[in-house]
Amino acid sequence: MPKAVILLIEDDASIRRFVSAFLSGQGFKVVEAVTGKTGLEYLRSYKPSAVLLDLGLPDTSGIEVVKRIREWSRVPVIIISARGQEGDKVAGLDAGADDYLTKPFGTAELLARIRVSLRRVSSADKNSPIFKTGNLEVDLSKRHVLIGSKEIHLSPIQYKILSILVRQAGRVVTREELLEEAWGPEKDAGVDSVRIYMHQLRKKLEKNPLRPQYLKTELGVGYRMITDEDRI
Ligand code: CA
Repeated sequence: MPKAVILLIEDDASIRRFVSAFLSGQGFKVVEAVTGKTGLEYLRSYKPSAVLLDLGLPDTSGIEVVKRIREWSRVPVIIISARGQEGDKVAGLDAGADDYLTKPFGTAELLARIRVSLRRVSSADKNSPIFKTGNLEVDLSKRHVLIGSKEIHLSPIQYKILSILVRQAGRVVTREELLEEAWGPEKDAGVDSVRIYMHQLRKKLEKNPLRPQYLKTELGVGYRMITDEDRI
């Protein structure tokens, strides 16, 4: 099998060295670009399986690069951001990026984020309606939610929010995305409503809502449904 290609668009040489050495050791072929312009050229010529994208590039912003990528490509894009760039991170996710890593990040986290992205692409057309993680089971076709063998009753909006996170399991979902999808464009709800519903969901699903095993908060960004793979 040919190696999966990962395109790394990053101007910091030490991060390029670290990511490149690690991913090559994991059996990926890594293509490096220092500017947004070169990154977009390499996207066309190398057809990578996933893109790791720094937000602060010498010639353009990473958010612009995400927008350009999404004009024609569905390739998974993982943003690499510095601490304190929360606003940019959310803008990048809303522009179509799939996930993010905050510098400094470790190799386990990097590999987990890449695997989730690659799996999303490969499983896109053989989706099962049943999602399981830990003791939680959600059947999207029957709208059943179980903890162990016990059925959990959710309100329509609670279920809606849970199902959005389940369909994107392993990925971060921004609060804006949740608002848009759960309440629709004529929403009279705000991010506070999302917080309230997440609190209700955790009370129903989590053993200890203060230390959630399933519904993780990504500070300043949104929420992530933890998969069994994330726990390894
Ligand atoms: Ca940079």
